[in-house]
Amino acid sequence: MKKAYAEVIVDIDHEKLDRPFTYRIPGRLADECVIGCAVTIPFGSSDRLISGYVVGFTDRPDLDEEKIKEISAVTAGIETAEARLVQLAAWMSRRYGSTMIRAMKTVVPVRKRTKAVTEKTVFLTGDQPFEDIAARYAAKRCSAKMRVLNALSGGAMDMAALKEAAGVPVSVIRSMEEEGVLRIAVTEVYRRVTEEGAAAPPDVLNDEQQRACEEIRREWREGAGRPALLRGVTGSGKTAVYTELVADAIREGGQAIVLIPEIALTAQTVYRFVRRFGDRVSFLHSRLSGGERYDQMKAARKGDISVMVGPRSALFTPFPHLRLIVVDEEHEESYHSETMPRYYAQEVAVRRGELEGAHVLFGSATPSVGTEYLVRCGAYFGSVLHTRFGGRTLPDARIIDMRDELQKGNRSILSDELKAQIRARLDRGEQVMLFLNRRGYAGSVTCRSCGHVIRCPHCDISLTRHKNGRLICHYCGYESPDVRACPVCGSSHIGGLSVGTEQVEDIVQAAFPDARILRMDLDTTKGKDGHGRILKCFREGGADILIGTQMIVKGHDFPRVTLVGVLLADLSLSEADYRSSERTFQLVAQAVGRAGRGERPGQALIQTYQPDHFAIRAAAAQDYELFYNEEMAYRKLLQYPPEGGMLAILGSSPDAKLLHTGMEFLRKYIDRIDPHGRLMAIGPAPQSIGKLKDQYREVIYVRHKMTGVLIGAKDRIESYIAANSGFRTIQIQFDFS
Ligand code: ADP
Ligand code: ZN
Ligand code: ZN
Repeated sequence: MKKAYAEVIVDIDHEKLDRPFTYRIPGRLADECVIGCAVTIPFGSSDRLISGYVVGFTDRPDLDEEKIKEISAVTAGIETAEARLVQLAAWMSRRYGSTMIRAMKTVVPVRKRTKAVTEKTVFLTGDQPFEDIAARYAAKRCSAKMRVLNALSGGAMDMAALKEAAGVPVSVIRSMEEEGVLRIAVTEVYRRVTEEGAAAPPDVLNDEQQRACEEIRREWREGAGRPALLRGVTGSGKTAVYTELVADAIREGGQAIVLIPEIALTAQTVYRFVRRFGDRVSFLHSRLSGGERYDQMKAARKGDISVMVGPRSALFTPFPHLRLIVVDEEHEESYHSETMPRYYAQEVAVRRGELEGAHVLFGSATPSVGTEYLVRCGAYFGSVLHTRFGGRTLPDARIIDMRDELQKGNRSILSDELKAQIRARLDRGEQVMLFLNRRGYAGSVTCRSCGHVIRCPHCDISLTRHKNGRLICHYCGYESPDVRACPVCGSSHIGGLSVGTEQVEDIVQAAFPDARILRMDLDTTKGKDGHGRILKCFREGGADILIGTQMIVKGHDFPRVTLVGVLLADLSLSEADYRSSERTFQLVAQAVGRAGRGERPGQALIQTYQPDHFAIRAAAAQDYELFYNEEMAYRKLLQYPPEGGMLAILGSSPDAKLLHTGMEFLRKYIDRIDPHGRLMAIGPAPQSIGKLKDQYREVIYVRHKMTGVLIGAKDRIESYIAANSGFRTIQIQFDFS
């Protein structure tokens, strides 16, 4: 395509990132003008020169050609962090099939015209006795200050909350700070986490950690500089290796990004970084407002911080000299974006690393098959930690065949063995975690006569029965009263097929009336810092048993847990997805890995109806190799990723018929551009959730050995969709795996 006009996004330092503006490309600049390059352009009525980034090209501008201004210059070299991020966005938009604007909005922190917000905590210094201060204020009739004083008597407060509670302007609080009565700390979160573990000694690497560090350093300094995967059994101390390598990056004058799955669930990891790097660390979490986020990004850009810890989106921190990107628990699903562009943080990290000259380190006890595959192909460097830190042993894991229990007449969700072991722990004052695999259909209501499952009328999802007897859709929130008879056959034999966490809690409490039980699931973690509260309580010994869903298996370190029970281990095997074994292995292996991380050895009991399934057996044995080899054999056979590439074309529309017709057309188009059937296309078929929030959903899967071929196919399909008005009411997304 002849590059006549460029779409330019003006520098975020100057203007709002709203839409691209069209500029003519003068002939002399045609070659230099590439996507992502920085340009100087006349802007506004005064035509002042500002900088911007080229994000795309067009032949047919929407504007009157006369009015289109010309690019003044292409700024030599792409040097700023933003320019490199624009390049990254361009790559993402192509790789994942999204518009450039959507990619830009994902990648570049949106400038919010709010005043800078910082997290400020106010607390009394305690230098002067409370009574003296109060007496002084009373004498001088400083009622405003008195209110502040009283508000703070209960402990530290957030600045905003304090202003509100005391009904005073900041100036009053500031003046009290000058008096030495109180202090305003700007790093509230650091202080809190630091207090928690102030006594912890600094990490000294053990031999295995040291070796892993050296191997990775050698690869990066003298070798090919490939992305590295640190595979370390649960409790091997991967975090200590990350912090060493982050320290290297800082020592070299650079910065590092550390991605973690979910901040609320991984506070311990954050804490370890804060302890090591103090106020050089900042972190992102979902409760930050847009303005606060922006401020953090600004601090990073100015180099005021050196380490950013956060979820997926932290990957786009605009550090000036990014040297290292760490992706912890890299197998976690939260690294896959569910909105456009539907990117994989692992891939984007590698691409960003290439653009920035930064190294990339993945870590997990249960790496995704895709990442391990790249190690075995030699595309990534691999390093392994085989043993647990501190000479601790891996838990002794046993598989319990629930079919035997049924034969014995035990219809409870708890096997006899699990009950006996829980009893033993309670008697010894040790802690227990019970993990309920809820992937699949737990909590659903099924007719035992005809098999009918009660579903949400808006989503193709079974409703979940809650304790209050109401049936609730976890996707759209739809609620209905419980049913007494099957709406299809009228049978009264209708009820919960399996159990939710609430029921497990009841059952366990009934079996062990003396046990103190904590439950962690979506319902109990709703409030502010709900996760943190529960995890802290459990860690401090506030309960004997923690019951929860997948959220309790994520990398937690509870030294007093000596027994982990996995209930319904195989539930996730029934998911209609080629990754169901992988997910089951990861969930169960991670759950097992929570046991025995302290002084006393741990035990894990895995209850299942499929005791012979390799994913369950490998998880019990904490044997990654066993899992990987079996799984890869199967993927090879069926040419599933990573052996081949797979593109899912996801269509959704409120009109089922229209959607199906459109998807049929797409399928025919695919067959037309691929007359020899080299692209293996399947579908259209309903997605695993066929209807969500009144949108019907269908999918076409296209497989090919080479991802590049699939990207090419995606580009053609995209143009086809753009050129056909029939797709206006169908939303199409692309998903690579
Ligand atoms: P992983 O993430 O590999 O499962 P962690 O990083 O949580 O393991 O480490 C497990 C435990 O061992 C934690 O309590 C951690 O503090 C401790 N640990 C690991 N490495 C060291 C070290 N070098 N020095 C002191 N403690 C360590
Ligand atoms: Zn619903
Ligand atoms: Zn029925």
